[in-house]
Amino acid sequence: MNGIKNDPPIGLGLISGGLDSLIACLVLKLQNIEVIGLNFKSPFCICDKAYQNAECGLNLYDKLGIKTYFLQKEDDYLEVIKNPKFGYGKNLNPCIDCRIYILKKAKLFAEKINVDFIFTGEVIDQRPKSQNLKALRIIEEESNLKGKLLRPLSALMLKPTILEEKGLIDRSRLLGIKGRSRKKQLELARTHGILNEYNACGGCLLTEKEFANRMRDYLKFNNKPTMDGVSLLKYGRHFRFNGAKIIVGRNELENNFLVHLKGSNGIIMEASNVKGPITLIQGNIDATVIKIAARLTLRYSDAIKPQGEVKYGRGSNILNEYLTVEKATQEFLTPYLL
Ligand code: SF4
Repeated sequence: MNGIKNDPPIGLGLISGGLDSLIACLVLKLQNIEVIGLNFKSPFCICDKAYQNAECGLNLYDKLGIKTYFLQKEDDYLEVIKNPKFGYGKNLNPCIDCRIYILKKAKLFAEKINVDFIFTGEVIDQRPKSQNLKALRIIEEESNLKGKLLRPLSALMLKPTILEEKGLIDRSRLLGIKGRSRKKQLELARTHGILNEYNACGGCLLTEKEFANRMRDYLKFNNKPTMDGVSLLKYGRHFRFNGAKIIVGRNELENNFLVHLKGSNGIIMEASNVKGPITLIQGNIDATVIKIAARLTLRYSDAIKPQGEVKYGRGSNILNEYLTVEKATQEFLTPYLL
């Protein structure tokens, strides 16, 4: 990244699995620039569809002959979420700081694999807070990529990068797209036979209210938060009572997952004699917490009567302790629901 070593230059594109980053790659490929993709993974990514849907996702990069690398956002990303220098979007999404974080990592990666520049599929004013002109400038400067970060889709509305100034990238073949419409991007995708229709897919859990609540709670109660710990927030119904966390599974997959995650200090619980969820209890567990968890467990079970029995186990997975409680009502559980 200190100087251009390859002729023609090689670009590393941040790719999300969405249309914009795909078209940014296409625009460069059309002027015979070699392009490599870099995708960041994290537990916050709602990417399943993007990977599965043949008309939307990273498999489209194969069509363009683009090799893609994958990097994980690591535990240091949680510090970005806790203290974003440039604030949050509508929920707990620190979009400007998030872009800076991944660009800094991408810069290190680019140096390692000897590519010459980094580009993104960002479009001016596509997102009001994180993709306006001022935000794009901040992102470029804070990630130490001033003059070196190419945005092929909006390039004509931005100051030329060093690559354009040196004539290594033909600026006249870059685009000047602005705003939320993806009409131009889709037109290019169709013209070049990449895809016909585009359905937005993927997303970020940090933008979702319910997940953001869980995440705030997780950061509050964990001095050393980890990405593995974050993964657990995606499964089950979560409740906080005093210092304890109660997680009630919603299906068989989640039930199995909760048993697997119990660890040596957790408690596993389920309704006796009727079908129902697995509940995992973690943290400061006392008799009151167990009683609350039992009421919640019974509430989400098939038990018909208002009162019933649950069984639970501490050290091992043998459930050999029993408790009879009243089912929790919606009114009762709402204050504890995350
Ligand atoms: S939506 Fe999520 S992944 Fe995207 S920039 Fe914002 S915080 Fe980062």
